[in-house]
Amino acid sequence: MTEIRLHNTLSRRKEVFEPIDATNVRLYLCGPTVYDRAHLGNARPVVVIDVLYRLLRLKYGVGAVTYVRNFTDVDDKINATALARKEAGAPGTLEELIRARTEETIGWYHADMDALGALRPDLEPRATDFIGAMIAMIEELIAKGHAYAKDGHVLFRVRSYTRYGALSGRSVDDMIAGARVEVAPFKEDPMDFVLWKPSDADLPGWESPWGRGRPGWHIECSAMSYELLGASFDIHAGGIDLQFPHHENEIAQSCCAHPEGGFARYWLHNEMLQVEGKKMSKSLGNFFTVRDLLGQGIPGEVIRFVFLQTHYGKPMDWTAEKAAQAEATLRKWRAAVAGVAASAPAQAVIEALSDDLNTAGAIAALHAIKDPAELKASAALLGLLEDGMGAWAAAPGADLSAHAAALADLRARAMASKDFAPVDAMKAALIAAGVEVRMSKAGVELLAGPGFDAAKLPALG
Ligand SMILES: [Zn+2]
Repeated sequence: MTEIRLHNTLSRRKEVFEPIDATNVRLYLCGPTVYDRAHLGNARPVVVIDVLYRLLRLKYGVGAVTYVRNFTDVDDKINATALARKEAGAPGTLEELIRARTEETIGWYHADMDALGALRPDLEPRATDFIGAMIAMIEELIAKGHAYAKDGHVLFRVRSYTRYGALSGRSVDDMIAGARVEVAPFKEDPMDFVLWKPSDADLPGWESPWGRGRPGWHIECSAMSYELLGASFDIHAGGIDLQFPHHENEIAQSCCAHPEGGFARYWLHNEMLQVEGKKMSKSLGNFFTVRDLLGQGIPGEVIRFVFLQTHYGKPMDWTAEKAAQAEATLRKWRAAVAGVAASAPAQAVIEALSDDLNTAGAIAALHAIKDPAELKASAALLGLLEDGMGAWAAAPGADLSAHAAALADLRARAMASKDFAPVDAMKAALIAAGVEVRMSKAGVELLAGPGFDAAKLPALG
């Protein structure tokens, strides 16, 4: 098969990908902190790395790739949400409430990423299951002079690692100038970062040689990747926002604790996501979780298609227009491949993906394929047109305007007659058909939800 080339952030150039061991290609993606629903930007690296995972499995074999993505389940934000629930009178201890919150969020995360057609990683370690490994790594760093304990904290001595900053291509002094580094009495140098910190009695904590406490965030990925993938592995991926300090700190910790290994050889970073040309933010009102979009009736496959139209190394702009176009293309393709068994993927699609995951080029190549069996096989490499994801396309496009007008009319009559039973009956029938009904003073809005079934819509009189 074509050789795979990847843009390595570490060398800042495209390199031929050569695994350390072709019978066990190892891939690590920084996973979510599980305190809330994943937003659209959180889903981008998952979809990008899912395509890489599919490509590696095609080239090296399904059993020859190990993909690890962690869950960060120890974090101040998780503690804060659990504490807020406890203060609101929720039953159970704080530990139980934290556990319930992380379990619930992991369930949401799986449901949302499944809806986007992302294959589950081979291993999904939770940080709280690896505290012992983190403590062992911190002890190793102290023994080698790269870390020090002070006042219940343990800090990494950044200036003890001369290659610090290599991933970002900046010197430590430049980074200090540009970063918001915290000056604290327990630090030798403001640049030093936390490996371990003390926990109050009312927060989760673990016994350690430095007292009861909890790990810093960066050490989690270093310890879990070492335990599951070893001191050297092939690819480490994540959003560009993690390059500094998170990935820079991971490299420093891992290379200092295990200098015999080289940690990750290829670093892949995806660019950020915007919505309608603007940075996604709650204050701008353009902040979407994956679930928000699915709830608006946008199929996960459409979200995935829109993501893959932009190369992972470029900022991607989510727009309603792109979603509508993606939906039309997928409907057309799904009609073409209905009932067809996949053959082999087209060489042009494999070549595009092998060229640093050129997903936009791969989609362009899909447009040129005439044979439905080849289209289906090729699209599967991008996680598209798969059998489990297509129920939405079987339904006709959801034009609910006539039903919205009818419901608004019924409501206007009910205001006069004071008999709201017909309104409630129609509302119930719409909900049973998988429609989300939003009624406000401004009017009636109907949205096809994920379970939408046009055949169940109430008849209009
Ligand atoms: Zn990480």
